[in-house]
Amino acid sequence: MINYGRQSISQDDIDAVVAVLRGDWLTQGPSVEVFERLVAEYVGAQHAVAFSSGTSALHGAAHAAGLGPGDIVYTSPLTFMASANCIRYVGAQVALVDIDDETLNMRGDLIPPRTDGTIAVHYAGLPMDLNGLRSRSRVVIEDAAHALGAMTPDGPVGNCAHSDMCCFSFHPVKPITTAEGGMVTTNDDDLAERLRRFRSHGMVKRPEIAPWHYDIEEPGYNYRLTDLQAALGSSQMTRIDDFITRRNAIADRYRADLNPAKYRLPAAAPMGWRHGYHLFVVRVSERLRIYEELRQLGIATQVHYVPVHHHTVSNDIDDRNRFPVCDAAYEQILSIPIYPGMSDEDQSKVITALNKVG
Ligand SMILES: *Cc1c(COP(=O)(O)O)cnc(C)c1O
Repeated sequence: MINYGRQSISQDDIDAVVAVLRGDWLTQGPSVEVFERLVAEYVGAQHAVAFSSGTSALHGAAHAAGLGPGDIVYTSPLTFMASANCIRYVGAQVALVDIDDETLNMRGDLIPPRTDGTIAVHYAGLPMDLNGLRSRSRVVIEDAAHALGAMTPDGPVGNCAHSDMCCFSFHPVKPITTAEGGMVTTNDDDLAERLRRFRSHGMVKRPEIAPWHYDIEEPGYNYRLTDLQAALGSSQMTRIDDFITRRNAIADRYRADLNPAKYRLPAAAPMGWRHGYHLFVVRVSERLRIYEELRQLGIATQVHYVPVHHHTVSNDIDDRNRFPVCDAAYEQILSIPIYPGMSDEDQSKVITALNKVG
């Protein structure tokens, strides 16, 4: 079965994890610090704070930003629920704006002025344009789970040029993997400190009182990444640009070879931007039939995502059914296989199958 996405694991990755297993640290230790520094340098941010998942990274960011009860925080209706659940975790109210029909990113211009916060999602790896968002939203947190390696004219996604914090996920289908894992980048010293405390029980060391002394200042969590995972992440980071280049090459070939009468192609990155191509999302009519016929041919596609406001948990959101562009897109979207390890032969098989069943 050719899946819509999958991890790419090398012998170096395996060796890096095994080396940690033979050492002294298994949980958060020196390998986590190395991984954090690698990601911070790659994206051009002052700080990177590793978390146990993209979801816990988003929770940490929402907490560190001081979002809470009484705050209204906007996100995209076309995203994984973690983008919205992090708002719920801190007791704030989830709100949505509709998406752009071309980019499928949320419409920043629809966010009302003096908004408390925004979780800005870079859908499929195409960066959302964040220019001007800060003037209307007190807190801006990027959900860049799809977008490590993507670029804007203001630099790499993650440099927080237009945001307070940027969150990444290292789930196996994401741009790099640590199995489970996440990261928050920021240029704010105080936010970095709050993130570190939150991921480890709310704990602050107090050596001035006694060498063993610590204080739990708030009810934090155990959201730590392990050194095993961080070693895998650091090894994967040596290939991030190769991964993104390969994803772009696969996307270029789909654009050239898919029958345009049958498949509406996703928006390309504008000049000066680089798409991360976490997903290659085409739009089709008769999606269910195509999905099933492709499965028969050994090709597993997926739908990203069942919109946020369609889920039971979203009964807490006002304005239900008022995201018509998202609802119309949802009827047609289909994520077709794209991942760095996909061979040219496998892509040929996918293209032939798509043009046949479409
Ligand atoms: C994958 C993903 C997350 C959550 O990441 P996990 O590491 O799986 O917890 C959050 N937001 C988006 C948009 C994602 O795709």
